[in-house]
Amino acid sequence: MENLIDWSKVPNDPVFQLVFPQREMLDPEQYHDVETLLRKGHAQDSLARVIQRIRLDLNPYPAGQLTHNVPIFEGRPLWGLQHKYRETVLFFPFHGQSCHAYCTYCFRWAQFINMEGVKFASKDTVDLVAYLKAHPDVTDVLITGGDPMIMRTTLLRKYLEPLLIPELDHVQNIRIGTKAIASWPYRFVSEPDADDCLRLFEEVIAANRHLAIMGHFSHPVELEPEIARAAIQRIRNTGAQIRMQAPIIRHVNDDPEVWASIWRTGVRLGLIPYYMFVERDTGARNYFEVPLVRAYEIYRQAYASVSGLSRPVQGPTMSAFPGKVRIMGVITLRDIMDDRMIETFSRAHGGVPAIHADEPVLICDFTQARDPALVKTVFFAALDPHVTWFDQLRPAFARERFPFADEGDRERILPSYSVTECLLH
Ligand code: SF4
Repeated sequence: MENLIDWSKVPNDPVFQLVFPQREMLDPEQYHDVETLLRKGHAQDSLARVIQRIRLDLNPYPAGQLTHNVPIFEGRPLWGLQHKYRETVLFFPFHGQSCHAYCTYCFRWAQFINMEGVKFASKDTVDLVAYLKAHPDVTDVLITGGDPMIMRTTLLRKYLEPLLIPELDHVQNIRIGTKAIASWPYRFVSEPDADDCLRLFEEVIAANRHLAIMGHFSHPVELEPEIARAAIQRIRNTGAQIRMQAPIIRHVNDDPEVWASIWRTGVRLGLIPYYMFVERDTGARNYFEVPLVRAYEIYRQAYASVSGLSRPVQGPTMSAFPGKVRIMGVITLRDIMDDRMIETFSRAHGGVPAIHADEPVLICDFTQARDPALVKTVFFAALDPHVTWFDQLRPAFARERFPFADEGDRERILPSYSVTECLLH
């Protein structure tokens, strides 16, 4: 509040938008429904019902998190874990399911409201350790939330230490997803157990694990305060690496210079640019979403203005149902083919009229996938300037379907629950 918001610019200040809900985040009808009940002094249970309906309309668990990501182990679902990609397991410690930030665009907002009692959370690591022992392909565990760095060090230790046993030597990378460096850097500098936390990080590294702090940075202003820089220095001194990631968000960071500045400043401080995500299809997405073609142009301009040390950054990337889908560029066939090649291409694709050679299309690929065979699959999507999410993409060149999993394949990928089953659990 004191360091990151320029109060003279409110309500347009980006960090103000990041943490303070705005009226326009609800559609007018939703707002009206709640307002009417409040004004008429209706009972709490009527209000709760309306709010619950609105929450369900906001797609609380996108991309199959409830229905496809929860692993089945020894005949039962493990609700504190998600296993979407072969190499990486997500773990949700019970005590880490809140956050210093409460971003208005949070894609894990449903974790904070105990919706219908559904919450990804585990109070201990017994299931996690057993699951990992049985899955030697898993090399990475991401401790996530909420924000695990909300926990005191004694609790964090309880969740981290069991991962360091020799039987889990295949788990070589431990990641912690956090926004604490931006929103509560005191956690690593001046809180009573800040030093204990850093010693714990050192112990993880001494156990021959790579410790990656997956830092959520939405705007360069978050890297300016001295206290944030001190936190970064202290974390890096333990041997841990800090990677930078965030979604592109209208009203907050939909500007190439903002992204270039995040990456430039981050690299100067020793951080590694990692992901520019596309805002997920959940919550107040109508307020925040940026069309994919615009997101790509912001990424391209930012990428073009920084040195190679910022260019490990991947984006714009959608964490969609089948995997991580990246927008790689915008082209027309005529950009890359002469007339003879276009004709051959056209014949190979069932006689697509040559006119489509001038149609701009998005080139996309999978940088990660539920089905490992999909990784690096490239596909073309029709360019629609209004499309904001993967599910709205349509195949280019008048094709009927994309060359990857259809609905039937979805069911084969992982055991699935219906949402109702999950809610009943
Ligand atoms: S930091 Fe992450 S978990 Fe916390 S509110 Fe923001 S998006 Fe959600």
